Amino acid sequence: MDVVLYPDPRLRAKNAPVEVFDAELAATARAMFEAMYRTEGVGLAAPQVGINRRLLVYNPTGKAEEADLEIVLCNPKIAWKSRVIEPGREGCLSFPAIYGQIDRPIAVKIEAQGLDGAPVTLELEDWDARIFLHEFDHLDGVLFTDRMTPADKTRNAPALEELVDRYREKLASS
Ligand SMILES: [Zn+2]
Repeated sequence: MDVVLYPDPRLRAKNAPVEVFDAELAATARAMFEAMYRTEGVGLAAPQVGINRRLLVYNPTGKAEEADLEIVLCNPKIAWKSRVIEPGREGCLSFPAIYGQIDRPIAVKIEAQGLDGAPVTLELEDWDARIFLHEFDHLDGVLFTDRMTPADKTRNAPALEELVDRYREKLASS
């Protein structure tokens, strides 16, 4: 399982709800964690591995050995978010070597389903809330570059152009 890089259209495609909670779904989530740890990320959304489903995984430590902190969410919804917003530095596995300051609510309440389809509710703050909100955006086809400040957009423009060039070269050679 490979991480899809910008500007692959699957990052902007519509994501269908998860409807079947079976062993295949569990295997997909496991493979997403493996891909996430391999690329030194803390979160990954299904469209980032080319699967247009409303599924995301994260581990706030980014460490495979801290598997007890792994979270898998299917069909997540934001039940509440704080009005208080804070900027924080973010990267994205679909945008290698690109970073920006992104404004996010500092706390959220989430309603979702687990791998078995059972309801899950979570209250997240700070770093965990930021990771969730970044991955949740992916499920709506929203990318962190969309939320960058004009200064960060300008600073990152050459790196983004390079990603577009690489994507075009890959398409041309396949
Ligand atoms: Zn991302």
